[in-house]
Amino acid sequence: MKGVTPQKLQACPHCGYLVNSAGTFDGEDFAPLPGDITMCIECTGFCIFAEDMTLRKLTPDEFVELDVDARTQLLEGRRRMKEIKRLHPKDDDADTSPGA
Ligand SMILES: [Zn+2]
Repeated sequence: MKGVTPQKLQACPHCGYLVNSAGTFDGEDFAPLPGDITMCIECTGFCIFAEDMTLRKLTPDEFVELDVDARTQLLEGRRRMKEIKRLHPKDDDADTSPGA
C-alpha cells in the first residue's frame, strides 16, 4: 500500500498488538527513524522508535516536551483513528486513509 513502510514485526508496548508496518494518514512515503513518534492503530497509544527501531511507550514527560504542533498532530491522529475505527468496526481490510 502506498505510504506504508514494512517494519520489523514487534508488539505494541501498550496493548501487544503486532505491528509490522508504519504509515501516514495522508499516504505520504514514510520511513521512520530512531526518535520518531508513532501511534498504534489498534489502541492509539503513542510510541517512540528506539535506536534499534524497537517501539517503547512515549512517556507523559516526553509528550509534554514535544512542540505544540507535534502534540496537536498526535492528538488529531488519535481522534481520526478513533473515528475510523468507529466507522469501520473490525474491518481489517479497511483503507485507513480518510480518502478526502
Ligand atoms: Zn497498541
